[in-house]
Amino acid sequence: MKRIIENIEPVLKRLKSFCEVVLGFKKNQAVLEAQRCPQCSHPKCIEGCPLGVDIPGFIRALREKNNLKALHRIREQNGLAGICGRLCSAPCEKACILNEEEGVDPINIKALERFSFDQGQSKIKQIFNAESANRNNRKVAVVGSGPTGLTAASILVEAGYEITIFEALHLPGGILRYGIPEFRLPEKALDIEIEYITSLGIEIKTNCLIGKTYTIFDLMDMGYEAVLLAIGASAPQMLDIPGAQLKGVHFAQEFLMRTNLAGEQQSLKTEMPDLFGKEIAVIGSGTMALDCARIAVRLDKQATIIHSQTEDDIEATGEECNHAKEEGVKLEVLTSPVEILSDENDCVKGIRCVRMDFVDKDGKGLWKVVPVKNSEFAVEADTVILADKGASNSLIIREMKDLKINKDGSIWIKKNEYMTSVDGVFAAGGVVNQSLNLIEALCQGKEAAQKIDLYLQKKNQNEEKNI
Ligand SMILES: Cc1cc2nc3c(=O)[nH]c(=O)nc-3n(C[C@H](O)[C@H](O)[C@H](O)COP(=O)(O)OP(=O)(O)OC[C@H]3O[C@@H](n4cnc5c(N)ncnc54)[C@H](O)[C@@H]3O)c2cc1C
Repeated sequence: MKRIIENIEPVLKRLKSFCEVVLGFKKNQAVLEAQRCPQCSHPKCIEGCPLGVDIPGFIRALREKNNLKALHRIREQNGLAGICGRLCSAPCEKACILNEEEGVDPINIKALERFSFDQGQSKIKQIFNAESANRNNRKVAVVGSGPTGLTAASILVEAGYEITIFEALHLPGGILRYGIPEFRLPEKALDIEIEYITSLGIEIKTNCLIGKTYTIFDLMDMGYEAVLLAIGASAPQMLDIPGAQLKGVHFAQEFLMRTNLAGEQQSLKTEMPDLFGKEIAVIGSGTMALDCARIAVRLDKQATIIHSQTEDDIEATGEECNHAKEEGVKLEVLTSPVEILSDENDCVKGIRCVRMDFVDKDGKGLWKVVPVKNSEFAVEADTVILADKGASNSLIIREMKDLKINKDGSIWIKKNEYMTSVDGVFAAGGVVNQSLNLIEALCQGKEAAQKIDLYLQKKNQNEEKNI
């Protein structure tokens, strides 16, 4: 039987709204896809999932039409099933044994995970467990409420700690809230996940910028025995080409934040002042560039992505690239920007680009992408969005002189320990590796929480010895 794919909103309807593009499975589709799972005795999919979710187990529950049990099984290892079912890069599917059979596609695990959440979440209150909070009278502070912080917090609260998450913005969720548009992740799905996590007994203090509202030392004075820095890497980085300072050049982080935090995204078309032009060129690769371009076309703008590698090298699923192209986003691949061009008012009027190609200079098979001679051309644009990787917020870093920082600005941690150079201060997620995807961030949040638990257990034993 063929792999069943999720239902998709038609393109014309998509362009008129910010509604979710991928609509998920209908009940009968989910059961049929669940029945394709061979239920291996040594499941490679579990090994492929960085969180080790019991994939055959939750799929078995779906076959039995028990969606709540399926969601419960996923939640044993992954507190953000509704998010992962929509955004995960699905390494589990790459590991699925069906890939080894010619012409057979892997199980659509991501879609089944999303189905479990969408169908099971209304009954989710049955598995709330707030009693576990603060059994051991020890406090841990988590700085940042993105996926890393939320995951770490939920594991630590289950282990008996009193957890407070300190979040700089007015709403929790990190990139999931302000970076990812409604048409890929509806706010409602995120709210349900966060409501579930807070119901475990976690407090989230929003509008609380650590480094300003409180310092890390203040948190320690307030009785937090360990602090996890899960502050991501969303500070924009300047592109080093002429013209990057012109009027009409924006950072993707700013564009995404303005458009995602505008409330009802549909109202952007009618009620918000239009700060961006009509012809938008996005420089960058990956989901951040795709998301900017896909928002732009929904705001009736033309959008072109300029990317120096091939389409296959875009750091996003093929599905996301196809959706963007269907919606009219133009991809200029193997194209590198050389200069942002200005008009007489110092406003953007285009980008001078050069074509790139693969060469094997030494004939050793070491193919490199290099500029093609005399291939310069201009891409017309009145707005440029720079969608490169971000850096970490430097407030905390500036305040803590003993915090060791890597060359790329990420926070140094002791390998596999998640402890920074400051005793009791841990770091995980985007702040230690700016290229992490969602599932890797969740995995780091989980591992960091386990290390914090071990650290505090040891500390406890030492304290008892000294009494
Ligand atoms: C536009 C975009 C789309 C993406 N799409 C995908 C995708 O489809 N699939 C995928 O696998 N990955 C995707 N990613 C990557 C993924 O979102 C990240 O790996 C993940 O969000 C990192 O999580 P984090 O919790 O470490 O950081 P973040 O999500 O950035 O959260 C950090 C939080 O810390 C807060 N904070 C920062 N400084 C302070 C401070 N001093 N005090 C208090 N709070 C602070 C921030 O406000 C934020 O809420 C995408 C990334 C972007 C930018």
